[in-house]
Amino acid sequence: MSDTPLSLLNRIFGYPAFRGEQAAIVDHVAGGGDALVLMPTGGGKSLCYQIPALLREGCAVVVSPLIALMQDQVAALKELGIAAAFLNSSLDAAAAMEVERDFATGRLKLLYVAPERLLTPRFQNLLEQARVALFAIDEAHCVSQWGHDFRPEYLGLSALHERFPGVPRIALTATADAATRAEILDRLDLHAARVFVSSFDRPNIRYRIAEKTDPRRQLLDFLREHAGEAGIVYCSTRKKVEETAAALVQAGFNALPYHGGMDNATRSRHQERFLREDGVVMVATIAFGMGIDKPDVRFVAHLDLPRSVEGYYQETGRAGRDGEPAEAWMAWGLQDVVTQRRFIDESEAGDAHKRVGHAKLDALVGLAEAASCRRVALLAYFGEPSQPCGNCDVCLEPPVLWDGTEAAQKALSAVYRTGQRFGAGHVIDVLLGKATDKVEKFGHAGLSVFGIGANLDDKRWRAVLRQLVVRGLLEVDHTAYGALKLTQAARPVLKGEETVMLRALEVRPARRKSRLAPSSGAGVHDDEDPLFLSLRAWRRETANEKGVPAYVILHDAALREIAARRPATLEALAEIPGLGTKKLEAYGEDVLAVVAEG
Ligand code: ADP
Ligand code: ZN
Repeated sequence: MSDTPLSLLNRIFGYPAFRGEQAAIVDHVAGGGDALVLMPTGGGKSLCYQIPALLREGCAVVVSPLIALMQDQVAALKELGIAAAFLNSSLDAAAAMEVERDFATGRLKLLYVAPERLLTPRFQNLLEQARVALFAIDEAHCVSQWGHDFRPEYLGLSALHERFPGVPRIALTATADAATRAEILDRLDLHAARVFVSSFDRPNIRYRIAEKTDPRRQLLDFLREHAGEAGIVYCSTRKKVEETAAALVQAGFNALPYHGGMDNATRSRHQERFLREDGVVMVATIAFGMGIDKPDVRFVAHLDLPRSVEGYYQETGRAGRDGEPAEAWMAWGLQDVVTQRRFIDESEAGDAHKRVGHAKLDALVGLAEAASCRRVALLAYFGEPSQPCGNCDVCLEPPVLWDGTEAAQKALSAVYRTGQRFGAGHVIDVLLGKATDKVEKFGHAGLSVFGIGANLDDKRWRAVLRQLVVRGLLEVDHTAYGALKLTQAARPVLKGEETVMLRALEVRPARRKSRLAPSSGAGVHDDEDPLFLSLRAWRRETANEKGVPAYVILHDAALREIAARRPATLEALAEIPGLGTKKLEAYGEDVLAVVAEG
């Protein structure tokens, strides 16, 4: 009996059902059609070409820009018993030759190739000899010249279509916007392709955005909720990366720094450890992350505001690729906005570019300040309507609003009376009636506004000022060291014609995870479960012996299911998602032994 897509999914990959558009894509490509697949990170793009590769005659050629990623994908496929190999600069001549021979003689089902290699005359020759099942072009947005990941070699890929018109092509990307999509279709000459657009929602990611009050402590509180888990902490500068990593190590976390200023060897060692060890916290600038295919990143924390919603989405999207619960947490404050605005204004870019930069930042600040569902706001930015999610901080603990009209009036007056020449710090000192040097120097103790804000503390005033800036009642003058100035919008408030509802500052004690559990009950892991920990230890050992990342052996989700169901027989074990025939054969007995002991 011949295989169907579903039987392959069950038997080889060990998964019970296709997700979303996968089934339609697989059918279309297996049937010889071209496709452009837009799917978020973790959506399951790989299966969209891997299963057609198995269904069609010949070998699928997968173009992938990232060497480390190729290696891990191939290791994972081999674990499943699929004949896969890669060709890139990390192979020596002899090894490359062997792969080429296997390819030409039809012994491979999937071959991963770097784009520059694919376009060489030597490889083009090989393509003539081999039977090609399909071309898969991964990270297809690399063809976009305006994008951040542009790869000039990708432009040459349209030639594939000219030389091999009968071979179906599938291009895949997680970049959502319409402009990039059009550019991919155009530059890869995919006009006849069917376009599959998936929802960009990542339902397993819980979004939490907090006001920066005491960032180091807030970060530690957050990380303690994720003890023993792998995650990424993003910082805006190299210096902050170094300092934060050091502080985390001191606090007992297995944390490593990563940024563009480190030497290559150290950087790749740290990346390697993040991929291969369990529970490493990577503290990094945004230089880190592209091509990190680790499925079990349980959290992404931002200690600084990214530059845009796109950036935020992409960076947080590195969490939870395996579909298991994950958290995206960010702390931000007025200073982030001030710094970013100055950065934009001082850049060499033209006015149009600067306007775009400010608008993008505004959109992100809007998301951070939102008093309604984060996910709804996030997806709306990408043009996707949705319903409140029940899995973000706003849905779970709706912010308390308070009538901040009087506070706003006090703050605006303080800005006005001090001459619209000072930043938030001094304005707050005046409101609180603090006798600082600056207050003394400028004689501000004599102002009517001096000390009128003693009813609120420093943190609360900061939150008030930030919200006034975000709403456009105050603006920050970057040409004058971040001085606050009133805008037209401040007038009706000062005249008492408008009320201002503000978000209350959340000053909560560190929470237990369970308080934020989604109502579905699917969210909380009991990672203290001794059986889960034993299984993880067994997996680490096995992975080390084989020299592959732990998740190549079995995913966390599978280990957790095993720990929960405690299967006693191979048949029972086969029911666990993620255990196909090959893995059962290779590890079934070992896993049962661990379960029996635990
Ligand atoms: P992408 O390339 O889109 O980021 P992957 O192809 O790496 O995503 O898949 C993400 C994760 O989802 C992988 O761990 C994969 O095994 C898993 N996955 C994909 N499709 C399914 C499915 N139909 N059922 C269960 N798990 C799946
Ligand atoms: Zn929500």
